[in-house]
Amino acid sequence: MPKIVDTKEPELKILVTGAAGFLGSNLVDFLLEKGHNVIGVDNFQSGSSQNLDHLKNDARFEFLSHNIQDALPDLVGVHQIYNLACPASPVHYQKDPVSTLNTCFLGTQNLLELARSKRIRILHTSTSEVYGDPSIHPQPEHYWGNVNSFGPRACYDEGKRAAEALCYAYREQHGVDIRIARIFNTYGPRMRPSDGRVVSSFIASALASEDLKITGDGKSTRSFQYVTDCTQGLYSLMGSDHSQGPVNIGNPGEFTIQQLAELTIDVVSHMSGHPKVSITYLPPLVDDPVVRRPDITLARKVLGWEPVVPLQDGLRRTIEWHIDQSRSH
Ligand code: NAD
Repeated sequence: MPKIVDTKEPELKILVTGAAGFLGSNLVDFLLEKGHNVIGVDNFQSGSSQNLDHLKNDARFEFLSHNIQDALPDLVGVHQIYNLACPASPVHYQKDPVSTLNTCFLGTQNLLELARSKRIRILHTSTSEVYGDPSIHPQPEHYWGNVNSFGPRACYDEGKRAAEALCYAYREQHGVDIRIARIFNTYGPRMRPSDGRVVSSFIASALASEDLKITGDGKSTRSFQYVTDCTQGLYSLMGSDHSQGPVNIGNPGEFTIQQLAELTIDVVSHMSGHPKVSITYLPPLVDDPVVRRPDITLARKVLGWEPVVPLQDGLRRTIEWHIDQSRSH
């Protein structure tokens, strides 16, 4: 008789900080779909309760309104922590830069302490911003970066670098089981039109029949990862043995901002029937990187993961969400 193998994953209780944000709320949905229980933590600094409304009657989801800069209560029975709490868009992280640094450092420390006391694994979400304006292209994990420590982006970039250093210190000094994801530009449903991030801003402008505004000449490049690729990457990293160091989670496709703008204008016009809008150019932002593209050799090797959603498909799904949102309000 063939042996019956139970392939169902064990049901875990997972803490997700930043659960009301763009990525956090998508990760919560993903984990619930996988059959886990989730405790979401957020203080709504840049997130929205609307992102969790659909879970109100889901018994497998609990929510704790809490600022991670303060020590967390004793959460019983938690098996894993994903730390996503931190404003990610310049509009939000520059509003209160001291608080951003505190969230990165004190907040991450509180979660590392929780992981330490409970002897559980913690995945911290870092960012491609740790590479700054890179002098190596594409960026592998062993590149140390080129970051300005004394400028308007420093509270986020250096905060995230300090948080990585803290994860390293807790692993070395206290044996905490850490995972670090360096996430590259991610987009998709629930990214707020008003938070200044390029994909959602372009879509919102095109749908409102307003010109798209490019800061700089449009020649700088970015790589855009659809949100479901990112959540799968984070989940694979959490489940992997790779505690040695950070892993890039991003889409290696590289586009100029000009190309992204033109593609968005085309797809929005096609989906909405609106005439195509134009592009206006504004002065470049301070310390804005010129190029950005992940080298994902390590993720392919240690996680067996790579993104699967092409930009055009991801854009279409995101535009659909924006259209639905505007109909329901
Ligand atoms: P987001 O701003 O939409 O979500 C962040 C969430 O964290 C929000 O709900 C916010 O209210 C919450 N938060 C902020 N400070 C908090 C605090 N002190 N205590 C409790 N909650 C707090 O951002 P996002 O795009 O969902 O990003 C999530 C994480 O992923 C962030 O850590 C960000 O640095 C990282 N990341 C995101 C991207 C991206 O492209 N989206 C890229 C690189 C890294």
